[in-house]
Amino acid sequence: MNLDVNAMGLRIYPDPILKTKAEAFSLPLPENMEAVGQKMLDIMNEHQGIGLAGPQAGLSLRVIVFDLSEDRNEPHILINPEIVYASKDKVKEEEGCLSFPEIHGYVIRHEKVKVTGYNVKGEAVEYEGEGLMAAMFQHEIDHLDGIAFVDRLGTTGKMKAKNMLEALRESYAG
Ligand SMILES: [Zn+2]
Repeated sequence: MNLDVNAMGLRIYPDPILKTKAEAFSLPLPENMEAVGQKMLDIMNEHQGIGLAGPQAGLSLRVIVFDLSEDRNEPHILINPEIVYASKDKVKEEEGCLSFPEIHGYVIRHEKVKVTGYNVKGEAVEYEGEGLMAAMFQHEIDHLDGIAFVDRLGTTGKMKAKNMLEALRESYAG
């Protein structure tokens, strides 16, 4: 099986794919899994993001990519990511999202998480992240469940984002 890389591109709110629960991959992975991940990384880098989830690239499948390195030379592709541990401690930091251009707001996240999944070869991998990395994992895995960071904003954040969201809805071409 191959996925259509040419059909992939950044999806912007209110694209319904962003509200759709993404499907898990089954093994063996698609033959062009690496090209799919690379395309997601290209989209992410083109828009200066640190992470991107499948639905944001038009793919309703459980895959995320990320690169938290300063030089943007440590790309990761993680398939069927799952949070297997989340710290009780939480932190509140400002987030943004490539699918919600120019909207920012504070979101409460677990300070540390442990995430399991597969790499593009279908091998089991595990990550431990804290701070920005932990928030990124929670943000991207939320996307796979049809949840965006704006859904997790507090009352003030939601009020601030309201007009921007309305503007995005008005300019959405469908
Ligand atoms: Zn996002």
